[in-house]
Amino acid sequence: MRVLLTGASGFLAEHILEQLLKEGYFVRATVRSEDKRRAVEKLHTGAMLEVVIVPDVSSPGVFANVVKSIDYVVHTASPFHLSATDMQAEMLDPAIKGTTEILEASAKEEQVKRVVLTSSMAAVIDTPSIPGPAGKVYSEKDWNSVSIEQALAHPAFAYHGSKTFAERAAFDFMERTKPKFDIVILDMPFIYGPMKNQQSLKSLNTSSAVVYSLISSTPSAGVPPTQVPLWVDVRDVARAHVLALKGGPEIGNKRFLIHADGTYTFGQVVDIVKKKFPHLAERLPTQSGAKVDGDGEYSSDNAKSKSELGLAYEYNLEHSITALVEDLLAMETST
Ligand code: NDP
Repeated sequence: MRVLLTGASGFLAEHILEQLLKEGYFVRATVRSEDKRRAVEKLHTGAMLEVVIVPDVSSPGVFANVVKSIDYVVHTASPFHLSATDMQAEMLDPAIKGTTEILEASAKEEQVKRVVLTSSMAAVIDTPSIPGPAGKVYSEKDWNSVSIEQALAHPAFAYHGSKTFAERAAFDFMERTKPKFDIVILDMPFIYGPMKNQQSLKSLNTSSAVVYSLISSTPSAGVPPTQVPLWVDVRDVARAHVLALKGGPEIGNKRFLIHADGTYTFGQVVDIVKKKFPHLAERLPTQSGAKVDGDGEYSSDNAKSKSELGLAYEYNLEHSITALVEDLLAMETST
């Protein structure tokens, strides 16, 4: 079976690529530049991998050749940062047009059976109203209410809007064109865990950078509010993508919330780092032990990811944070 994986140089996609190759899939992986192609090929080689350059996922027709002879598509490529200045060009266009371009190209290829879209809980949690109603438990039925005006006005809302509008565009496309393939959408909160291919501490992916900023603090600083009290390990998310490809028609045209059980706080992350890396104590904010504003105000139900997608979550917060901090510290000494 042949899989097209977009955004293969990303933090998450590197893990998806590793699992797909391990399972014996042929993978055509897209990256944006020659440098990124070299970086991907440094980690993975062999006849089952073909790396191709797609500089701009939002260009009309850009996937026409790339999707040829492909059975499954996994579309992860999308900007994830909270510092856009041109919200339309940097965030909304690549996310939304990138999604519709890949769907349009797939619809023209007889062989494509399923497109798995990497979305985010940013498309689910109602971020304009955080923390929202106390005790809210999010599910696959929920949608972020972020408006286009909010998305164009604020970089964080631009990211939330990019994922929300891209998901909506995907469902609209399916409804309007009724292609032969189906889609599966995966919605994750913050993803932590080991990094396979990060080049430098200056270009960390956004979720790893959050943890790096926590361990680059000082005891005189307080633990920042967690805001999104949900997390998941990158290896479990990669597994969810593989399961989404393999699943039967009953999971088609559905979204799944992919996250660890329960909630967490940055205070817990700090405690784990203190325990596993005692020499970092001077670089950690002070954990007061008290509830931090915004923490634990809402939660989410991941039951469908287990019962329908068949995902068994393997990694707890300690596994995930320990692996990530080890990699961050290794990068410090190598740069
Ligand atoms: P990365 O920044 O590591 O990866 C993003 C990938 O998308 C990279 O391959 C990047 O290419 C590519 N990309 C970024 N901007 C564009 C663009 N304008 N056009 C084409 N490609 C682009 O982040 P993650 O691995 O964390 O994110 C991967 C996916 O997972 C994204 O869709 C993100 O929204 C989603 N996600 C991530 C979460 C997290 O906590 N990490 C949580 C929920 C969802 P390049 O390497 O060249 O920059």
